[in-house]
Amino acid sequence: MNSYKQIEAINTACYYGHQHCVDSAQSQFNQWLDNPEETSCLNYASGTVLEMSHDSHDLYPQKFLSEILYLDYALTKKEANSVIGSVLRNSPIGYSMAVEFTMANWDALRAAHGTSAFNIVWQFADFMNTAADLMKLEEFGRKSQYVPGFPEKTYQSTVDKVKLNIQWMERNYEAVYQQLMDATSKTEEPADEREPFDGRLPETLAPSLYTISVTPYLDEEDGEKRFTFDGSVEIIFEVLNSTDVIVLHAHGTLKVDDSDSMITVAEKDNPSQTIGVDRVEIVEKYEFVMVHLTSNLVMGSEYIIKMDSFTGTLHHADFQGLYLSNYTEGGETKHMVATQLETTNARRVFPCFDEPALKATFDVTIVHKNTRIALCNMPVKETTTDGDWNTTVFDTTSVVMPTYLIAIVVADFRSMEIQTANNKTMRVWSRPEALSALNYSMHTGSEMLTFFEDYWEIGYPLPKQDMVAIPDFYFGAMENWGLVLYRETALLYDPQVNDQYRKHRVAAIIAHELAHMWFGNLVTLDWWDHVWLNEGYASFFELPVLEAVEPSWDVFNQFFQRDDLYRAMDFDDSWSSHPTVRPVGWPDDIWSQFDRIAYQRGSCMNMMMRTFLGEDTFKEGLKSYLNEYQYSNAVSDQLFAELTKADVGKKNTDVKKVMDTWLLQMGYPVVTLSRDGNTIHAEQTRFIMDPNEEPNDKHYDMGYKWHIPLTFTDESEKEYSNPTEAWMEVGPADFNIPTSSGDDWYLVNINQNGFYRVKYEDANWNKLATYLKENDHTTIPVRTRAQLLDDAFSIANAHQMDQVYSIKLLEYLSKETDYLPLYTAILRHGYTRDMLKRTAAYGYLERHMRYLLNNSYWELEWDFSHDSHLGYYKQIDSLRTACYYGHSDCIMRAKMQFNQWMDNINDTSAIESNLKDTVYCAAMKYGSEDIWERAWSLYDSENIPSDERSRVRSALACSKEQWILERYMEYALLKKEASSVIGNVLRNSGHTVAWDFTMNNWNELKEIHGNGALSIVWQFADYMNTDSDLTKLQAFGNKYMDMPGFSTSSYQNAVDKVKLNIDWMKRNYQPVYQQLKDATRNYVL
Ligand SMILES: [Zn+2]
Repeated sequence: MNSYKQIEAINTACYYGHQHCVDSAQSQFNQWLDNPEETSCLNYASGTVLEMSHDSHDLYPQKFLSEILYLDYALTKKEANSVIGSVLRNSPIGYSMAVEFTMANWDALRAAHGTSAFNIVWQFADFMNTAADLMKLEEFGRKSQYVPGFPEKTYQSTVDKVKLNIQWMERNYEAVYQQLMDATSKTEEPADEREPFDGRLPETLAPSLYTISVTPYLDEEDGEKRFTFDGSVEIIFEVLNSTDVIVLHAHGTLKVDDSDSMITVAEKDNPSQTIGVDRVEIVEKYEFVMVHLTSNLVMGSEYIIKMDSFTGTLHHADFQGLYLSNYTEGGETKHMVATQLETTNARRVFPCFDEPALKATFDVTIVHKNTRIALCNMPVKETTTDGDWNTTVFDTTSVVMPTYLIAIVVADFRSMEIQTANNKTMRVWSRPEALSALNYSMHTGSEMLTFFEDYWEIGYPLPKQDMVAIPDFYFGAMENWGLVLYRETALLYDPQVNDQYRKHRVAAIIAHELAHMWFGNLVTLDWWDHVWLNEGYASFFELPVLEAVEPSWDVFNQFFQRDDLYRAMDFDDSWSSHPTVRPVGWPDDIWSQFDRIAYQRGSCMNMMMRTFLGEDTFKEGLKSYLNEYQYSNAVSDQLFAELTKADVGKKNTDVKKVMDTWLLQMGYPVVTLSRDGNTIHAEQTRFIMDPNEEPNDKHYDMGYKWHIPLTFTDESEKEYSNPTEAWMEVGPADFNIPTSSGDDWYLVNINQNGFYRVKYEDANWNKLATYLKENDHTTIPVRTRAQLLDDAFSIANAHQMDQVYSIKLLEYLSKETDYLPLYTAILRHGYTRDMLKRTAAYGYLERHMRYLLNNSYWELEWDFSHDSHLGYYKQIDSLRTACYYGHSDCIMRAKMQFNQWMDNINDTSAIESNLKDTVYCAAMKYGSEDIWERAWSLYDSENIPSDERSRVRSALACSKEQWILERYMEYALLKKEASSVIGNVLRNSGHTVAWDFTMNNWNELKEIHGNGALSIVWQFADYMNTDSDLTKLQAFGNKYMDMPGFSTSSYQNAVDKVKLNIDWMKRNYQPVYQQLKDATRNYVL
């Protein structure tokens, strides 16, 4: 049993309010307060202790503050990387503090440590074992995935680790907790198989109306009640099957008073006719409160259950249930509460039938201080005042909703209001200081709501739509019906301050949430195995609404593949993926459904269905689905039945037959094509990115064969909007291209609308590359151009094809003016770049890339005074890449800007914020020793803002001078921050010098970083691709295999990776080298 599991068992036991745990934690904490220097009386569980004592910032003068100061200090000294690790493991505040600090200072950490900052986050995974932890990690992943160098695979294995930890906790924490408390040394091995979930509510009762009252306590004068809430609930329900027990959900953190007469049951129409309560049973495992009655409830009759008192704690920013959010305004700390009830958190706020199919109407009352406003799904019916307190009563919900869509906000917020074209009230809310940044959201949201009403011909059914910007919110947003909550950065957009990236994020998230008003809220998934019915649809229908509201963004063409398809494919190309629809029960299983499979892959499923059914049929089928199941629930088969019906008499597609192969098994195919005259032969196999990966059979599969909708055209036909179609029926297929002469090019999977990759025979790749280069490339649509780059690079990166075809395809890029193909080329060529970095071919690659990007570089140059959305995206990517590959004007501009900034370092806006890393790095890489020295002394001085200092620090590793790098690493070793500096050096130009340095200083590195020193070594593997590299790595492995903490599997992974790289080199190096050499022969750059 690992110690972290013990620790977390205690944390969890305390968190769930285990009385003994709470008592011992508090007594430990009091001892410690009496003698803050003595930390031995506190164990790792003190994060919990702090939380339980509330208001920890005020209470902990010395120790807590000193930890913060230590971390802050480390950040300014650029040592945060290792310090966070030690705080994480050794400090009494430990884990939660390290996480909070890391997230709060993420930009600075990234600037300081480059991509190795991610390693800080991955090490948290060892300590993460709750659904909330997983949410945090996945949100982090969602936010970071476009950061260059984001280690996708490590991220995924980290997620898997946390999932395992959660499973472990579910199975073991109670036993472990007992064991700890009993102080026995007996250990129990975790069971191999997780216990099957048997915690669905019985199908006996159906709620129809909840009457809920909630009072949160936020202020000092609330005394002991501060940061708690209390309330009462009445539920009217109908008896579907006679029973003598009422089974409700109430989470362990919600204390329901079950003493005499606090829980009563009566006939609805005859309230004096009560039913005796025999006993109340708590089933912690399933979060049940079971009210056993003295007699049976009569089938078909309606009853009312009243629970007069329950209480709960407002945890600060745990983002679940009703939680506390803090922010500062005007120098003052403000408190507010918000909710996040999806998926199983309504039961943390009030006892309820907490399953999505048990929809009801809700009557909500909130009692709150009159300095704050209260918001709920419906408009305010009436407010009464009693002293400082207001009682705000809301209208009964005009429609039925599932419990997870209820929302409450109590805050000192202000609003703006607009009437939509269809005369609906839309309001936006935020803290007063931020209100002016809600203009864009309000107008865009208003247009979007109207768009969807008209598109589906189904009106938005609630009397108002509120959108609220919450300072602490876990997700981007949550689609609560009538009260959508957003994280501030997902709703605030100030054109004076924010860039086009922010504008895009805000618009896309509003689009997503408002799409949910139909997909999710009007028609709700029947159970959480069908999360894609909510998320895949909300994700897909962002597209038509953005197309309507921001037509210049061209979202279908420029962003669908980038945001949905590439992300889904990159996730689903591994054995660690999972089927879209799979059985789930336990709350953490349910959480794990909310990933790229439900969202991005779900969106891709819609794009594919829309393509093979045709846009009109697809829309007609969805409309009838929305009408058929409105105010109700559905499963995937019911949706497919509506789509099949809509296609009768047209293509007569059996949608379920097709889609089952896509939803019930994970993965997607690569279709391999070969041509004989105008007959094409197609084979399908599952696409796996990493050939070293061990297959696993833990999920149901259909032999990894799919019903694949093929679409195709050829050079003479060029029919892209209505291409010829053929099906691959779970196996190979032959099809004819009648117009084909047999030696022109052909294209399959037009515009990448189908969720599969296409691998042509060599001749067709060559013809396509030549055509794009020598003809008008726009005669092949932008999405298909991006697709060719994406497929060619990805299939070759997966070692299933020669890389030279993708390199040939690149050659037309100098003519490319669209964003998506540029983005795709830059994204996907990274592996080739890393392999060539230390070879004779690298100079040609640099030259080639400079040439290819030259036109797009000059298009907008360094002028940011325009408001072209796509222009900005292209500009940032082009400038970054051009500078990276040494484009002379780019280097000159970067050096100039850097020098200007060095002369006036307080002018932090002098350089476009999305280009700062690029500019600093280019200045170090291409500048003189003098510039490096200046930057170095700047970094070493006190008068530089800390985020800028971090950027400089990271840029120092960009130098190409070996002796400078050597000196830098030596300095870093003294500062105990060598780990991240070595990482930065090896990723830039200093692989060899970094390796030698690591080996020469191994003992010292080991002393400073402990086992962590080993991960310095493993990261070299990404770039190692020669036999001598492998020998070096193996020699190291053999020598240190017996070192404590040596992980054989990490070592083996590194060795396997290097072997794969060596294979790539053997197969690809010469042809790619030759191709680059030929291509660059006539360049004058
Ligand atoms: Zn969503």
